[in-house]
Amino acid sequence: MLPHKKIHDISVMLGEESIDYPGDTPYSRKQLSAIAEGGMYDLSSLELSAHSGTHIDAPAHFMARGRTIDRYEIGDFILPALVVDIDDPDAVRPEAVAGLALQTGEALLFRTQNSASGTCRKGVFSECYVHLSPEAARACVAKRASLVGLDYVTIEPYGNEAFEAHRTLLQAGVLILEGINLDHVPAGRYTLVCLPLKMKNAEASPVRAVLLEWTDAAQACNHSAGKSRI
Ligand SMILES: [Zn+2]
Repeated sequence: MLPHKKIHDISVMLGEESIDYPGDTPYSRKQLSAIAEGGMYDLSSLELSAHSGTHIDAPAHFMARGRTIDRYEIGDFILPALVVDIDDPDAVRPEAVAGLALQTGEALLFRTQNSASGTCRKGVFSECYVHLSPEAARACVAKRASLVGLDYVTIEPYGNEAFEAHRTLLQAGVLILEGINLDHVPAGRYTLVCLPLKMKNAEASPVRAVLLEWTDAAQACNHSAGKSRI
């Protein structure tokens, strides 16, 4: 038993809460056989985008010959993480990042109004949501975050075809965690676990993302150990 106080599930439910990005393959689960209908077993098939629901983008998403999901160590998806509250109703700005005391390699997760309003888990795409500004993305790189997360299915503002925030982070080797739900997760320090599927050459993958909240004693102990908090 790990000495954690609580596990926060920050994933959205596929097929109910998840949001299909316009133009992407929508998530669907097709029932091929059903016991309730006289079948020997329940059996279903899935159709989805690599960016369906809560998911990680790797550099290959925007970079030619960029690093793919399978070329990471599993430990790269188990990280110390800082959850930060963002009040700005439009975007995460660099000012919100500048003053943070981020440890090198820590994940940075932004909890915006997308979580409180339910926009991040309402099942349909909305053009109005809090995004990550390119300047804030640059500030995250300067802070040497290893992963940046936002509580919406994309970090870009709607209709932006330059994908500057994606490019800035991925070019610097910073993973992007999109489609998380941070409602009911207080700002603070956690251990993030977000394991992708083991897929060859994938530029992204759905993940089950959780935050482990530690007891104060375990937190202090992890700090003095200075590395992985598991
Ligand atoms: Zn994505």
